[in-house]
Amino acid sequence: MKYLLVLVVVMVAIWIWRSNRAEERSESRRDRPRREAAAVDMVGCDVCGLHCPRQDVIVGRRGMYCCDQHRNQAEQA
Ligand SMILES: [Zn+2]
Repeated sequence: MKYLLVLVVVMVAIWIWRSNRAEERSESRRDRPRREAAAVDMVGCDVCGLHCPRQDVIVGRRGMYCCDQHRNQAEQA
């Protein structure tokens, strides 16, 4: 009977330890995309106002655009 109690205590301790670790892992996974999103510099299109990451944006003579079509549209006007 004593051994059974010890076994139950050990199992509960392992279960608590494992659930704490799972929580830490899921928290770090949740934090990562947030940090990446903050690091990406968003730029608004001068024609439609759509926000794009700076590395994907089309840079024209008059400003920055989400696509070639909007750059042409702004530069022809
Ligand atoms: Zn646009």
